[in-house]
Amino acid sequence: MDVTKEKILEILSGYDKKKLKIATICSHTALQIFHGARLEGIKTIGICTPNRQKVYEAFPLGKPDDFLIVQDLRDIPEKELQDENAILIPHGSLVEYTGDKLGELKVPMLGNRESLKWEKDRMKMFKWLQAAGLQVPAVIDPDKIDRPCIVKLAGAKGGRGYKVVSTPEQFYEHFEGMNVIVQEYLIGVRAYPHYFYSPLSQDGFRALEGRVELIGIDRRFESNIDEAYRTEHAGLSFSPSFTVVGNELLVMRESLIEDLLEMGKSVVEAADRLFGGIPGPFCLETVVDENLQFYVFEVSARIVAGTNLYPLGSPYTVYQYSEPMSMGRRIAREIKIAAKQGKLSKLVF
Ligand code: AMP
Repeated sequence: MDVTKEKILEILSGYDKKKLKIATICSHTALQIFHGARLEGIKTIGICTPNRQKVYEAFPLGKPDDFLIVQDLRDIPEKELQDENAILIPHGSLVEYTGDKLGELKVPMLGNRESLKWEKDRMKMFKWLQAAGLQVPAVIDPDKIDRPCIVKLAGAKGGRGYKVVSTPEQFYEHFEGMNVIVQEYLIGVRAYPHYFYSPLSQDGFRALEGRVELIGIDRRFESNIDEAYRTEHAGLSFSPSFTVVGNELLVMRESLIEDLLEMGKSVVEAADRLFGGIPGPFCLETVVDENLQFYVFEVSARIVAGTNLYPLGSPYTVYQYSEPMSMGRRIAREIKIAAKQGKLSKLVF
C-alpha cells in the first residue's frame, strides 16, 4: 500500500536534521546529484549494484560518500536509509527501477510523489498540461489517423520503439493489439526546459508562495532521426526512430524566456490545484513551431538527464547565482535551507 504523507513526516520527525544525507540510485543523474551535494557540504549515499561501484569510484568528485550495495536496484533498503537520515532524490532510473513500489517506499523523497502518478499515466499528464493552459499535440484515435502521427508505446522510456505513421493501415501493420498512444507529430524545434520550483523563496519569478527558476534547456540526440541528413546524403532510405542517446545544451532567443517562465509557473500552479504541487525540479518537453508557439508533449516532475550538461552551471543559472549552480547543487541547497528553516515538510513526501 502507498505510504501517506503523514507517515513520511513522522519518519522525518525522527531524523537528526543536522546530519541529513542525500541518497539516490547510482545511475541517470547521480554524479551530478552527489557532486552538487558535496559542494553544499551534504553527505551522500549511493545505492549501487556491486558491478557498478567501480564506475562511480572513477569519479572522485561525483561519487557518493558511502555506497549502499544491493543485488537488485528494485530493493531500496528503507531501514538503512532512515537510519542515515537520508532524503531520496528520485531520478529517471529510480522511478523506472522501483516502478509501482515507489509509492510504498518509506523514505522521505524530494518532491511530491503524487506527481509521479500524474506523469506516468499519459491521459492524466495531458489533463495536467491542459489545466496549465498549455498547447498540447492532438491525441488521435488509430482509426482516424489523417496526418503524420507518432505512436508511443505505453511505459516506454527514452523513445524506444516509437514510430511515425500516417494512416490507420500503417498503424495496424505495426501496432495491432498493442497498448500505445497516438499523437499528432509536431513539426518544429524541440526544446526541453528544466525548472526548479522553490516554495521557500519569495523573490524572482513568483509562482504560488515561492518562485520558479529556469535552470537550463537541452535538446536531445535521438537515434536515428537526429542524424537523418547523413543517412539521406549517403543515399540510404531509413525508417525514423527516436531512441534517446544523449543531450546537447540549448540557449533560446531571449524573447522566449518570458514564455518559458510563464509555462513553468502554470505547470506549478496547475499541479498545486490538481494534486498538491511539485516542489523541486521538473522539465517540459516541447516543440516550438515557426510562429514561435510552444507545444508541450510531456512533463517530468523530477530531475532529467539533460541537466547533466551543466554540472558547473548553465547559461541561465549564471545570472541567478554567483557560484556554479547545477540542478544537483540546487536540490542540495534547497534541502539545506529547508532543514535550517524547519520547512522540510514543504519539500518532501
Ligand atoms: P517522449 O517519450 O514523449 O519523451 O518522446 C521521445 C521523443 O520522441 C521526443 O524526445 C521527441 O523527439 C519525439 N516526440 C515525442 N512526441 C512527439 C510529438 N508529438 N511530435 C514530434 N516528436 C515527438
